[in-house]
Amino acid sequence: MATALITGSARGIGAAIAIRLAQDGYDIALNDVSEKMFEDNDIIEKIQKLNVKCEKFIADVSKHSDCETMVKGVKESFGSIDVLVNNAGITRDGLMVRMSEDNYDMVIAVNQKSVFNMTKLVGAVMMRQKSGRIINLSSVAGLYGNPGQMNYSASKAAIIGMTKTTAKELGSRGITCNAVAPGFIQTPMTDMLSEEQKKMMISMIAMKRYGQVEEIAGVVSFLASKDSSYVTGQTIEISGGLSM
Ligand code: NAP
Repeated sequence: MATALITGSARGIGAAIAIRLAQDGYDIALNDVSEKMFEDNDIIEKIQKLNVKCEKFIADVSKHSDCETMVKGVKESFGSIDVLVNNAGITRDGLMVRMSEDNYDMVIAVNQKSVFNMTKLVGAVMMRQKSGRIINLSSVAGLYGNPGQMNYSASKAAIIGMTKTTAKELGSRGITCNAVAPGFIQTPMTDMLSEEQKKMMISMIAMKRYGQVEEIAGVVSFLASKDSSYVTGQTIEISGGLSM
């Protein structure tokens, strides 16, 4: 059985991706930064009901040593790592002039350095396997910028460059690396916006609605599947036509 490791997958988009990949038949290694996130929901039970193996690994993906322990643990327990989804992400928004150095550094560490940590470690496993799929969560903020998100847009733009570099370094070993760039997806992250901000966002979207987490998971499922075997280094925008 093939294994998928999804970072930041106790809730939100990561949990939806984990459920979708379990439906596709993957054994699932879940990750989150704290045990508490798993106490508040039934994601593990939901996935186990799909008749695949599912285990959780607590690790802060911004820390290389945590990632090392997690990747070793997943390899020992599951045998292989066939799909890596770098999903964990945070926001610490604020206009640039008022943004603290700590809030800048924290977002870069969790959103961007984590992609280096996990891709380096899981990439080595996949190189020995001579196959693998890596899918990174970027954002429309990384493609177009967003006021109040200097830290977040920097991290998400960097992920697009890291995706292309990974694709070029690992392509000859049968490993693909692609990114998805979601627009406004209904999650706790976007629920925090004011009604006025939500109305303004929706007015800019061709489809006049937020996206759902399952609509991100569907594209990730395609990028993990055999059907995308000749797609690498690409960023697929999933925004309901935000950019047109
Ligand atoms: P979310 O609901 O906040 O979920 C993110 C998960 O990552 C949380 O469970 C979080 O745990 C975990 N996490 C945070 N820091 C971590 C760390 N250091 N190590 C391991 N796990 C960590 O966010 P989401 O909306 O599903 O977003 C998922 C991804 O999609 C992110 O990369 C985000 O930037 C991207 N994205 C989202 C949207 C959107 O509209 N929602 C749009 C574009 C891109 P805690 O809660 O304990 O911190």
